Amino acid sequence: MKDAQPDPNWNPRTRLVHGGSRRSQYGEVSEALFLTQGFVYPDAETAEARFIDAGPDEFIYARYGNPTVRMFEDRIAQLEGAEDAFATASGMAAVNGALVACLKAGDHVVSARALFGSCLWIVETLLPRFGVEVTFVDGADLAQWEAAVRPDTRLVFLESLSNPTLELVDITAVAAVAHRHDALVVVDNVFATPIFQRSLELGADVVIYSATKHIDGQGRCLGGVVLGTRDFIRGTLEPYLKHTGGAMSPFNAWVMLKGMETLDLRCRAQAETALKLARAIEGHPKVRRTLYPGLPGHPQADLAARQMTAGGTVLALDVHGGQAAAFRVLNAMKIALISNNLGDAKSIATHPATTTHQRLDPAAREHLGITPGLIRLSVGLEDGDDLVADLLQALDAA
Ligand SMILES: *Cc1c(COP(=O)(O)O)cnc(C)c1O
Repeated sequence: MKDAQPDPNWNPRTRLVHGGSRRSQYGEVSEALFLTQGFVYPDAETAEARFIDAGPDEFIYARYGNPTVRMFEDRIAQLEGAEDAFATASGMAAVNGALVACLKAGDHVVSARALFGSCLWIVETLLPRFGVEVTFVDGADLAQWEAAVRPDTRLVFLESLSNPTLELVDITAVAAVAHRHDALVVVDNVFATPIFQRSLELGADVVIYSATKHIDGQGRCLGGVVLGTRDFIRGTLEPYLKHTGGAMSPFNAWVMLKGMETLDLRCRAQAETALKLARAIEGHPKVRRTLYPGLPGHPQADLAARQMTAGGTVLALDVHGGQAAAFRVLNAMKIALISNNLGDAKSIATHPATTTHQRLDPAAREHLGITPGLIRLSVGLEDGDDLVADLLQALDAA
């Protein structure tokens, strides 16, 4: 049977279609959905042996691993250039798993302040409850990282691009600071996508995705994944996740596998349209700021050019007139849906100050640039000209 073994010469598009495939004795073309919790052993001796040391094609229980889930893990590991991956029930199960699996009371963590809401809750509220000390920094300010990382820092955590203001963190520079003290660099790479930012090559040790976003890309299933060295994934992370129940469902893994086949095409088309939209509204009289890392006028355009191969699939705009004007724009858009997901085939508009970042106090929102007029726009697969026309007519309503 012709099974797709990782070939170092394959380019990403080929890995996305064939990577990690495991064919059964039937030789199916499309990846099989092994919707099973358990696995049968031919005899008691085999069961005993498998509990001592399971081989790569031997499974015990779906909370530990499953063939369809393993196909997804192998495929994304091959795309990312990671030694291994562990798939999780959601992006947050991945973030929680990666952080909690390697921290203990007394450890110190340095984290960028601009985080996805639930990531912030884990770092700011949960970890200190278990005796982990956390120092927050402005991710774009390297001097703050240098001042915050100390000999007892166990890990640093960041999102680049950040949500929702699309700020970059210089991953290579932060990794140099962290590695001086043997701290692990954990990057939530959701907004940048595996297509546009190779965080492991930039210096990250562990990369996390919410597969719910671009990897599914069609708004169906929750999922997440943690990528890193085999030692970290199987030695540190797997024991935590397999015993605490964060595993991805085989059905969701199957959906994610099919999503990966078109991931590169979708991300590129969405990023191209995002750039087109950003250009169309840059300098518009109703718009105070257009935030998109692919624009030459972005304050971190140089870093974006070094660190990413495109500006991503999300842009943000800050309209004059505050919340009332932002609401008028959201309500006037005919194509983009008012929702809070991103990376979807359908364009989605979000008002972060009143939804995803509502929990923050006003001073914290202001510090992060989450102004009342800020709209986050996740650009979908619709026709770019249609989206530009729709956004321009909606801005008239502001
Ligand atoms: C969505 C998201 C998460 C959480 O993912 P879920 O799949 O919703 O649990 C974590 N980090 C970032 C940056 C996200 O956008």
